[in-house]
Amino acid sequence: MLKGAISIDVDTLSTHLHGFGLNQKDYDFADFRLGIENFLRFLDELKLKATFFIVGKDLLNQQNVETLLKARNAGHEIANHSMHHIQGFRFLNREQKITEIKNTQEIIEKNTLNKVVGFRAPGWNIDNQTLEILSSMNYLYDSSIFPSSFNPLLKLMHFKATSQQPRTARTTLGQIKYCFNRTAPYQLANDQSRGHYLVELPITVTPVFRLPFFATFLLKTGLIPFKASLQMIKAWQRPIIYEFHLFDFVDFAKPELKHQIPSKFAKGIYLPQSIYTPFKQKWQLFYQAVSLMKQNYQFETLETLAKRFIHHDTQI
Ligand SMILES: [Zn+2]
Repeated sequence: MLKGAISIDVDTLSTHLHGFGLNQKDYDFADFRLGIENFLRFLDELKLKATFFIVGKDLLNQQNVETLLKARNAGHEIANHSMHHIQGFRFLNREQKITEIKNTQEIIEKNTLNKVVGFRAPGWNIDNQTLEILSSMNYLYDSSIFPSSFNPLLKLMHFKATSQQPRTARTTLGQIKYCFNRTAPYQLANDQSRGHYLVELPITVTPVFRLPFFATFLLKTGLIPFKASLQMIKAWQRPIIYEFHLFDFVDFAKPELKHQIPSKFAKGIYLPQSIYTPFKQKWQLFYQAVSLMKQNYQFETLETLAKRFIHHDTQI
């Protein structure tokens, strides 16, 4: 059986919109609660364990902590997605990056007793300095690099869609060189003196053409290109690191959320398709896609996958 991991970046409306178009007065994190509960049900039906990347500030809300505990108690992994989800993460200075990572780790560990060993940068906006910081903090893995040939196009689309935001927030996907990054997991030998090697688990792209292979792309293209990509990944015996976002599992037609979402035509804010796709349609598509992957892949948490890699399991 080939190995894979499913993860979800828990980016709420408050994180994503930074106040744009959001009715802050009565916003109560309904998307956090409903999205996580739906995703837990999805994982349960498919008998899977996954990794939840959490934005630290969301755990200042006690109801969110209680929702997250359901994930922890069901045996899923809780990992670090920074404290404030600053889109231009790689442009922060060293101290700011450390604070963002450290504070999130502390708030997760204090509230869930889950030891945090993994990180994903907001907007995949990683750089080598962050990788070096993670290694010095003894992190087991990072899963921020998105080594796709589509990156220049995705960067441009993001830049154009975020004209109302500050310059650094208009960047995404890290340094441009990551387009050519290794696509299979590897260890970064950037802290050899201590014998600690951070494992990089890049988000999966297809071999050769490096096409994106994650839920947002699936929603855009449908199942046929997905199946072709899956065939290729399987033929190359690559592990799958598959990424969802919270919005993929949120039903935005719910009364508590309906009035929180900005108009589809709002200018200057990037609004993912998952906000406007009916919940049932998203669920069925994702269910079919994960069921297909499951035929040949055994899914586990990113933590387990990273450990397997360190122990040189030949299957990965
Ligand atoms: Zn995110």
